[in-house]
Formats: sequence, C-alpha cells, structure tokens
Amino acid sequence: MFTLTTAVVLTVLPWYALNFAFSGAAWVWFAFCMVATGLSITGGYHRLWAHRAYQARLPLRLFYLLFGAMALQNSVLVWASMHRVHHRYVDDPERDPYSIRRGFWFAHLGWMLRDYPSARLDFSNARDLQDDPLVAFQHRHYLGLALGMNLGLPLLVGTLFGDPFGFLLLGGFLRLVINHHLTFFINSLAHTWGRRPYTADNTARDNDLVALFTYGEGYHNFHHQFQWDYRNGVRWWQIDPTKWWIAACAALGLAHGLKRVPEFKIQRAMLQRQFERARERLRACAPTGRFAVLHRLLEQELEAFSATVNEWTRLQGERFEAARRSLAGHWSHSELRRRLQTLERALHDQRRRLRLLHLQAA
Ligand SMILES: [Zn+2]
Ligand SMILES: [Zn+2]
Repeated sequence: MFTLTTAVVLTVLPWYALNFAFSGAAWVWFAFCMVATGLSITGGYHRLWAHRAYQARLPLRLFYLLFGAMALQNSVLVWASMHRVHHRYVDDPERDPYSIRRGFWFAHLGWMLRDYPSARLDFSNARDLQDDPLVAFQHRHYLGLALGMNLGLPLLVGTLFGDPFGFLLLGGFLRLVINHHLTFFINSLAHTWGRRPYTADNTARDNDLVALFTYGEGYHNFHHQFQWDYRNGVRWWQIDPTKWWIAACAALGLAHGLKRVPEFKIQRAMLQRQFERARERLRACAPTGRFAVLHRLLEQELEAFSATVNEWTRLQGERFEAARRSLAGHWSHSELRRRLQTLERALHDQRRRLRLLHLQAA
C-alpha cells in the first residue's frame, strides 16, 4: 500500500497535473479530506477511543469511524489497542510496537513492514472497545468501509463536480501519503526532537513545529505524562487544533466529559523536572563560594516544594472526604478550594525562583 500510493503520487499525479490540470473543487476536496481524516485519527482514534479523554455523541463518532477508515490506519480497535501498548511499554524495544529505541525508521514506518512480535494483536487491553457496537462494526467491515471511503466517495463526489480523477488523485492518493507521514511523525519525530518539560522517564518530546503538522500531537511529552487529558498542548497558546476541535464540538453539544489534569499536578511535574536540571547543573560545581549559596538555596526550595506537595495531598484528602459526605456543593465555595488555589500559586512562584536559580548557576 505504501509503495503503491507513493508511486502514484510521484508519477501519475504530476503527469495528470501537466496534461489535464486539477480543478479548484478537487483542491477543496483535498483540503477537506486532509482535515477530516487527520482529526478523525487524532481526535477520534487517539484521544476519544485509545485514551477515553472525553465522550462523543453519535454523529461525531460516526464521522470519526468513517473518516478514520478513510485514513487507512487500520480499525479503531487495532489502532487503539496497539497505542495503549505503546503507552504502557513506551521505549521498551521488545514490547513497544513502535519503539524509538529500534531506530527512527522503525518507529516511523518500519514496524508495519514485517510481522514483528512486538506488533502482534492482543485485544485484552481493549475490552471496552470490543463491547462498543459501532467500533466492532467498523472493525468487522473495515475493508469495505476503507475502499468505499477512498475510492467510492471521491469518484462519486468527483463525478458530481466533473473531475473524478482529480478528486481521486488529490483527495485520495496525495492526501493519503501526506497524512500517513504526518501521523507517523508522532511515533518517530515526536520521540526524537524537542524538549522534555514534564518527564525525562521516556523519549517523548514537546515540539511546537511538530505540533503544527500533527494537529497538535507534537506536545508528546505532556501527552505521555498525562495521557487521559483531552489536550496535548495544555497552554492556551500552544498549537493544538485537535484540542480546539474537541472544545468546539463540546460547545456544539457533540462532545462532553472533557478530562483535564489538575493544574497543580502539571506544575508539580514541571517543577520536578526543574529540580532535576538544577541539581545536574550544580553537581558539576564544587560547593564553595557562590555555588555553596546556590546549593543551600536549592535545598531550601526542595523543602518548600515537598511541604507544598504534602499540604496539597492532605487538602485533597479533605476534599474527597467532604465529597464522600456529599458536601460537594459546600466544597466548591469553601475555604479548602481557596487554600488549594494558594498552593497552585505557590508552585507557580517557585518555578519562577528556580528558573532564576538555574540562570545564576550558569
Ligand atoms: Zn508516543
Ligand atoms: Zn497516546
């Protein structure tokens, strides 16, 4: 499939463009199919079904199932089950189906070219999806749906606009090749290039440029740390079209139950990484003079950090206890909430101090 689609794009498509030229409608169809299949993979296959980051109403799920089949990346069941394995065993060369430890090419595409044991199907981690009648239907009729969406639909719509082959070449072949590689970049590039603000326990990276081309999935370090959050680019300014799409669907009543990691946990993860980096930097310097002061400062910051985290954990306990005693309404306006927010701010301020300390140690 990869050879055929790439060969058509490199030979037939330029030949057709030179001899017949594509209609404007064919380019519009190309753009529509790019966005529809892209979002069906990132918003549907990935964030809805693999991670259960939110819930979607029937029309949205149907859209994802159809245009997801058009993306030719296998059924939701296969895709999501394998992706859950990727998260569970990330970077393990034996068990992660697209482990970056086996090389860039393997993570990008190579893992699909042979029958590797690491990519063997086992749906025991996707019982919830097997029980979903729509997902099961798509899995059973995947071939028919994929052919219908990739050949039948473009030819039908193309005929209506008087350019069936233009529609097939742009909305079918060109879109497939580009979209395939954009999605595959999430397994290759997003595990290679970028920063690690939330965790250094795995190879996943945050990269704004990769996010721009992957519908927001380039904030992969955040995603591997907090996989059930519907956002990958968690800051409002981060380029995450899938997050905006899901939020827009929620505003239209097509999605609900959007899950968000508490801000405190995000700040805590970032601070932990800052401490790791500061410690690394100071380790290289003898604890004398200016560096002795910085060492002491770092120790003080660490103490303050663990005190804040302990206080937060204790307050969360109180909060759950209040909820258990069905005081939820009371809780939302209570002193507890204010105190939790103060702790959030404390971490935020501490991050600023630590950045300063890091600069001084340079
Ligand atoms: Zn990953
Ligand atoms: Zn994921």
